[in-house]
Amino acid sequence: AGWPYSRGLDYDALVDILTETPDSEKAREYSRYYTSGPHLAGKNLSQAIWTKDKWEEFGVSSLIVDYDVYLNYPKDHRLALLEKKGDHREDAVGIEGESMWKITYEASLEEDVLDEDATSGLKDRVPTFHGYSASGNVTAGYVYVNYGTFKDFEDLQAANVTLEGKIALVKYGGVFRGLKVKRAQELGMLGAIIYTDPGDDGEVTVENGYAAYPDGPARQPSSVQRGSCQFLSFAPGDPTTPGYPSKPGAPRQDTSHAIPSIPSIPISYQDALPLLKALNGHGPKASSINWKDGGLGYLGVEYNIGPSPDHLAVNLVNEQEYVTTPLWNVIGIINGSIPDEVVVLGNHRDAWIAGGAGDPNSGSAAFNEVIRSFGIAVRAGWKPMRTIVFASWDGEEYGLVGSTEWVEDYLPWLSASTVAYLNVDVGTQGPDFKLSAAPLLEKVVIDTVKLIQSPNQTIPGQTVGDVWDKRISTMGSGSDFTAFQDFAGIPSIDMGFGAAPGSAVYHYHSNYDSFAWMEKYGDPSFQYHETIAKVWALVAAKIIETPVLQLNATRYGAGLRRYVDSVKDKARTASFPPHKPDEIFAGLDAAVERFQFAATIHDGTADALAQRLIDDDIPWWKFWEKLQLYYAIRKVNTKYKLLERQFLYKEGLDGRSWFKHVVFAPGKWTGYAGATFPGIVEAIDEKDEAAAFKWTIIATEIVDGASDWLEAE
Ligand code: GLU
Ligand code: CA
Ligand code: ZN
Ligand code: ZN
Repeated sequence: AGWPYSRGLDYDALVDILTETPDSEKAREYSRYYTSGPHLAGKNLSQAIWTKDKWEEFGVSSLIVDYDVYLNYPKDHRLALLEKKGDHREDAVGIEGESMWKITYEASLEEDVLDEDATSGLKDRVPTFHGYSASGNVTAGYVYVNYGTFKDFEDLQAANVTLEGKIALVKYGGVFRGLKVKRAQELGMLGAIIYTDPGDDGEVTVENGYAAYPDGPARQPSSVQRGSCQFLSFAPGDPTTPGYPSKPGAPRQDTSHAIPSIPSIPISYQDALPLLKALNGHGPKASSINWKDGGLGYLGVEYNIGPSPDHLAVNLVNEQEYVTTPLWNVIGIINGSIPDEVVVLGNHRDAWIAGGAGDPNSGSAAFNEVIRSFGIAVRAGWKPMRTIVFASWDGEEYGLVGSTEWVEDYLPWLSASTVAYLNVDVGTQGPDFKLSAAPLLEKVVIDTVKLIQSPNQTIPGQTVGDVWDKRISTMGSGSDFTAFQDFAGIPSIDMGFGAAPGSAVYHYHSNYDSFAWMEKYGDPSFQYHETIAKVWALVAAKIIETPVLQLNATRYGAGLRRYVDSVKDKARTASFPPHKPDEIFAGLDAAVERFQFAATIHDGTADALAQRLIDDDIPWWKFWEKLQLYYAIRKVNTKYKLLERQFLYKEGLDGRSWFKHVVFAPGKWTGYAGATFPGIVEAIDEKDEAAAFKWTIIATEIVDGASDWLEAE
């Protein structure tokens, strides 16, 4: 009430439209469309056009924004287990060349074609391969390196296992796959074979008596996880244009810091089995260096580390074609009344495979329902207060390429105007609500999920908020929010429904992330698709349409407090820096305390202003007083809008200067999981005293600067 900008439709009517329009059957229809054929980055123009046309049909003006990006497409691959012919003489190696080896296992590198799953048998289905992997043909012994985390490789070095000159046999899981390859490469390994171990599938395994997909919920033994091997924590986006957009004619950089130089391939557990078994009895057992065995013990794998004995080797061939090719983001806009306050919603459209019913098209199907709902509101006469931008990204799978190039392209406008970025990647792969959020946006999501009914009605009337475990992760990486949060300093969220314990195994980046799987196991009623659409639309509406911005600085303060405490714990545990860690962090401690105070004051001011609007007790003829109120609200909102930006450090993090945020970054060696105060934390990890001091000072100055800025008139 009493706000000059909201026009055409009152807020309650808008909420009704946004919560009543999204429809599970429509989502099913869109899902069927997106998952019916290949939609790999740079090869999905028809789906981009289809998406744009749909949005236009919904009443949202849209355009396709393209970039010329560097990508690879698979040409050929091979993985064979070789055994030396004859007497296994040590000195035979390299004398007679390949002819002295006989093939004991030729990996299929293919996922089974299933009658029950139409897209698994498409003629032009996408081969199994890694995004941004290096071409190569290597024959060498191999070593089982567990998850290939930084720590796993340290354990191997401590156990004196030879790594140089060998090929890594790595399990998926734990950290981003590109970082596994990166570490193997740094340690002189020649290639990486990454497989999915059913030991990471929880309870729902064939070993535990569940049938494999399509007959049951367990993992299909031939399923392969494709995926990008870019060095995510260096910089996302087109590896040839870090920091600026890949426009035609843009200068191109050398890619050696950004993507691997050793070949890698992804394989299934079925194809890994003979390689793992051939290590039985060779080298230490995984358990002897405190690694947990995987889940193939019941099939005869003893989880020895190796290296493989001298009479065995693998031949790993990976042939990729690198091209510079257009990709297509679809951008839709509903102009608001306030020109410089913008909310961006995004989801990627590209998938590794024909299907992609979970990743990303459960999000894409829900997204269309969000946009259709907003379109209906616009047709009912609504003129939003703030501008809404919808983005269907291309090239996320290769390394957040479409979103990163777009953010790099529109950075000045985004910095000046964007209030929040709301990402949904996988909309649903199970029933559990999952949220990562910038602290500024935590509250608006918590408030919203209480308003949306859960598809789970074991307790009648319960909401998404009621069944949620209330856990909120910090922003790491692995999806399109990264350029917004870490490069542009725009507060972001990433949400969706994920697997619960006991859920059917989700075949991530495999042919079986298909429409058939989704209909049978993932979300047969498409109710979770409908629900994520409602949550997404309503979070957006609250930020777009509430006169006093629904951001919460107090939570940012509380977050900073937790992060500094955890830095101090870490320093204490590591006894590093060696001298008086508490004194070293005293300045940062004080800065955070001050910020907490400034944030509370700011939120208090905002609440008081919001209350005055609600009370609406200024008579119309005191227009001067009214104007002053609007002016005060505008000022409070501008501070909210630009608050996250205050945490950017323009030189960026050490060795990865693309990442500008002092508080949030993907962990240098995790990729997916976030690090808080990454500069300090990495310095402690690396026992670099100078860097620890430097980053503590920078963090203190940044936090103090944010308080100064928040307190300034
Ligand atoms: N979401 C994709 C993945 O996890 C891409 C992540 C990235 O390259 O940053 O593989
Ligand atoms: Ca770029
Ligand atoms: Zn995705
Ligand atoms: Zn993905």
